[in-house]
Amino acid sequence: MKEAHLDIRGSITRLLEEEAVQKGLSFIKADNDRTTEEQIELTEIEAPTFQEQVRGNVYKAKLEEVGIKDITIDEVGNVFGTRKGKGDGPALVLCAHLDTVFPSGTDVKAKWRDGKVFAPGIADDGRGLAVVLAIAKALQHTEIETAGDLIIGATVGEEGLGDLRGVKHLFSSRHDIDGFISVEPGEPERTTYLGTGSKRYEVTYEGPGGHSFGAFGTANPIHALGKAIAKISTLSVPAEPKTTYNVGIIHGGTSINTISETATMFVDMRSNSQEELQKLESTVLRMIQQAADEENAFRGKSNEITVTSKLVGDRPAGSQSSESAIVQVAQETTAALGFTPVLDSASSTDSNVPIHLGIPAVTLGGGGKAGGFHTLQEYYDPTDAYIGVQKVFLTVLALLGCAGVTEPLLEKREKAVTSHGTY
Ligand SMILES: [Zn+2]
Repeated sequence: MKEAHLDIRGSITRLLEEEAVQKGLSFIKADNDRTTEEQIELTEIEAPTFQEQVRGNVYKAKLEEVGIKDITIDEVGNVFGTRKGKGDGPALVLCAHLDTVFPSGTDVKAKWRDGKVFAPGIADDGRGLAVVLAIAKALQHTEIETAGDLIIGATVGEEGLGDLRGVKHLFSSRHDIDGFISVEPGEPERTTYLGTGSKRYEVTYEGPGGHSFGAFGTANPIHALGKAIAKISTLSVPAEPKTTYNVGIIHGGTSINTISETATMFVDMRSNSQEELQKLESTVLRMIQQAADEENAFRGKSNEITVTSKLVGDRPAGSQSSESAIVQVAQETTAALGFTPVLDSASSTDSNVPIHLGIPAVTLGGGGKAGGFHTLQEYYDPTDAYIGVQKVFLTVLALLGCAGVTEPLLEKREKAVTSHGTY
């Protein structure tokens, strides 16, 4: 493997010897309180998934203010600009997500208590958004010239039924990206490099319905739904790669003495392997149809009950080697800052999409302590949070290369390949 020959540790050591890099690290440390203030300012602009426009506009203005060029808001609402490198280097994306899980009208005003700031979305992903801006500022402040280009900004639709639509759009609309970093709340030593995939279906059984006594013998959608759940609930799935299923919501029925006309369930399936996810999906879809067929057959009917399965969530799974350059660089910068690097287990983040496409990607912890994610008690503690920013800063510099100091550790990909599947 080519990457094994890269002198990652040596490159990071050389970067740390550079005066401009040290200046950047000091700037980031001194900028800790201001970064927190900006994090609060962004968090206090509500941004539910699908309603990220207002926050997106503010974010664009902030990137402009720092001096990032060619900033655009694309069709779906992603905000990205470019900090050009010297030329002929790789292109790296650095981003966070604009959206939160909190509906419009949620009180997002920040409140300080015991050194922590409480506000829904303050950490996820208020922290990431603030870190990305802090990196832009540190780069501009130090006037460091990178070899490759930094594509810097924020995505929409990372949460829930947003279904990673921002990052999917990014990768379907441009094919010049060689690497990807997303910043999420988390300790600075943590790196996520595997993506958990998911498929979610809304399944609806429909039939003619009728009186429970008078129309007895009519095929029953609720009974069909019950048969489907009985089948799904005893499915064996591998523990490794972790693969799971869940029927999370059921509804249907009008009264106790009515044969219902409809019955609906929501099924969630996940796996760290795309292959296992696809296997599970086709098995579950087959069982859903079988349940309708069995209910019809039992009542001596054909097609009295029909079933539709609507895909409402589709996040690709992806894995890459922990030896890949992007993962190793993140690990080494963590160690260089005096921390023991930790590789996180797979999760679902914007990085899923590039990892699935075979493009090197990691999700990095933005620093500070945080908790209560996705709840109204979400909080963030900014103590020593700058270490997260420093780690991202060094990782970006090492991957893009620092003109005249180090070569890029991120490899330029063949741009001729544009068969990116559906994303
Ligand atoms: Zn997040």
